[in-house]
Amino acid sequence: YFDQNTIVFFNGEYIKASQAKSDLFAQSLHYGNAVFDAFRAYGTSLGPHIFKAEEHLARFSETAQKMHHTMPYSVRELIKISYELLERNNFTDAYIRPLIYSGMNMELSPDTKHHLFIAAWKWEKYLGKDLLDIKISDYKRPSPLACDVEAKVSGNYANSVAAVAEAQNAGFDDALLLDVEGKVAEGTGANFFFEKDGILFTPKKGHIFPGITRSVVLNLCKQMGQEVVEGVFFPEDLKDLDGAFFTGTAAQITGIASIDGHKMNKDWEDTIGYQVFEKYGHIVTQNEYDSYSII
Ligand code: PMP
Repeated sequence: YFDQNTIVFFNGEYIKASQAKSDLFAQSLHYGNAVFDAFRAYGTSLGPHIFKAEEHLARFSETAQKMHHTMPYSVRELIKISYELLERNNFTDAYIRPLIYSGMNMELSPDTKHHLFIAAWKWEKYLGKDLLDIKISDYKRPSPLACDVEAKVSGNYANSVAAVAEAQNAGFDDALLLDVEGKVAEGTGANFFFEKDGILFTPKKGHIFPGITRSVVLNLCKQMGQEVVEGVFFPEDLKDLDGAFFTGTAAQITGIASIDGHKMNKDWEDTIGYQVFEKYGHIVTQNEYDSYSII
């Protein structure tokens, strides 16, 4: 994703990626308790702008606290560092990834030796494609009773990596996961919407990661006068769809061509998802962020 000369922010310093050294005995490497987030910068008439920086970095900070990491920076400082990183790398459009992890400690007890890095790189298209053929995974999303599914904890992503591998080995691009009760949940790294008879549907909060992009899309739909039903859905509800798409920081708005081999009834360009895709592409570059606040 980035060459070794890219500048990263690591433990208080801006250094080349090649100079950053991590510990083989870092607790987070072994036990998956690192915490991360992701957000994007877009070129606007006022220069690079990080879309929803405050929301993303507040979520990062809160999740770090939940996982007993000591966060050395305020949200304001994290935003400042992120902008400086863009400037030092001469990036306009970029994907930005902060991560905090605990260092050398082979015990399971929380530790105080924390490392924080922020890296930025170019990440254009999710999975390199415009439209995805997806499979309903045999893996289920982790139960909200077993772990905090609303927290961006690295260990939660072992489930996503396994589901992507399963889907790709079966010839698909990505997976859609159900929760442990068989309810439609979300993608491996994105939220899920589908269209039927002029209405959009999306799984309600509770058993999903409540994405910031999902929230922006809900708000956008409200402003477009587009009905969206947040509810409980099962795989049988996904037959005979007019359209479907994923939302997320990496995915942005990515259209879905088929689910388990069943093609959408409409061409992507004729779907509500495509209208959302176009509007989203517009708002992230037009300095209109504040009117699309999180709901
Ligand atoms: N669900 C999962 C499992 C994710 O990993 C992500 C990406 N963070 C999302 C949904 C979308 O979240 P956001 O829109 O905040 O990027």
